[in-house]
Amino acid sequence: MKIALLSIGDELLCGETVDTNAAQIAARLYDCGLEVNRQMTVGDQPTAIADALAALANDHATIIATGGLGPTSDDVTAEAAATATGDSLVRNEAAHAHLVAFLRSRGREPFPQNEKQAFLPSRATVIPNPTGTACGFRTLLGSCHLYVLPGVPSEMRPMVEKSVIPAVRERAGQPMLLRTRVLTVFGISEAQVGQLLSDLALDGIRIAYCVQFPLIQVRLRLTASPESGAAALDTAAEMVRSRLGDAIVAEDHDTMETVVARLLDERGLNVDVAESCSGGLLAKHLTDISGSSSYMLAGVVAYANDAKSRLLGVPAELIERHGAVSEEVASAMAEGVRRTVASDLALAVTGIAGPTGGTDDKPVGTVFLSLCDHNGCRVRELHLSGSREQVRVATTYHALDWLRRHLLASDAGDRGRSRP
Ligand code: ATP
Ligand code: MG
Repeated sequence: MKIALLSIGDELLCGETVDTNAAQIAARLYDCGLEVNRQMTVGDQPTAIADALAALANDHATIIATGGLGPTSDDVTAEAAATATGDSLVRNEAAHAHLVAFLRSRGREPFPQNEKQAFLPSRATVIPNPTGTACGFRTLLGSCHLYVLPGVPSEMRPMVEKSVIPAVRERAGQPMLLRTRVLTVFGISEAQVGQLLSDLALDGIRIAYCVQFPLIQVRLRLTASPESGAAALDTAAEMVRSRLGDAIVAEDHDTMETVVARLLDERGLNVDVAESCSGGLLAKHLTDISGSSSYMLAGVVAYANDAKSRLLGVPAELIERHGAVSEEVASAMAEGVRRTVASDLALAVTGIAGPTGGTDDKPVGTVFLSLCDHNGCRVRELHLSGSREQVRVATTYHALDWLRRHLLASDAGDRGRSRP
């Protein structure tokens, strides 16, 4: 069954409001094995809406529209739907009763403008709105089923769940098995990923690349019968794994953070961080997960040179001699925090996030990372590009990825300190 989504509202066209309704409805349908074929956005003009409805009805069996059911003069969706279906607006008694009951339950009486929300196309059936004044409605546009819902996301969502999804599912019959595997990649460019996977022969599977800086998601999407689907997707994921190797940092619902957290917990190790240019971002990512106190002990943001000395014990003379952004200072920061907090592992970050502060020797994007354990400290020098925000985010992911790789390489016997 071909499904189209129509988002209605001037605020969507001018960029004032991000169209989250379409994304949420599409994701929900996808979960049910129903794929959206087209999404369209139009403004609040009756003719634009009626034209869009007529065009979409030509080659879709279902249209789900949101927005423009409110009480104000710019809410014209019901009128446009009546035009497109050759119908007229009449007062719908069920919609009117709901409107009055809803407002009275909140101690309010309807304004004359509210009356407008009870006027629906005469052949339409009401879609109840448990959380707002405006009912939605469903009607036929030729053979296409049209569902119209309010634009307010918190009102739209329960209506999709309770009324639209069950109705569409019933009409769709046996849904396709739609499945997606997501492989998250870090450390190689989008072009490299594309090159490495360019000659993969994946039967019946669509491959898509989605950059979520600085990560790249390789999405494998399958549309197949329930019998063969899961196995084909597993085979495809295995082929991608064999090409991309350990550049794949996480799969499906996992993230870099959940993978690092799991590895630390599995190995019974804990970590702390000393940060300069990342300004606490690394600590933030390490504590994004509930229960992170089991592996994350402390984070110190030591931005000024003096703070590096006082909080982390970095000798002032070391900073003087090598500069705050240096291999030596990165190591001393990691050593300092590991010693103070008595952790198994410590990560330190010092660099120049820009846009100012770069020199010929150490241009913007120069970053030193240090990772310390009971065997000592190692240092990595990075040369990153982009805005201040990008340098900080990329730095954080490089540090997390180094920690991930370190943990993968260390087995249970390679512990800095065993805990009870
Ligand atoms: P209302 O009764 O509030 O007027 P409505 O059905 O007329 O509801 P709109 O006026 O189009 O809906 O939008 C109401 C609010 O819902 C907007 O201010 C906007 O913030 C939000 N909204 C509308 N459409 C979308 C959308 N596609 N995605 C996200 N938010 C939306
Ligand atoms: Mg409105």
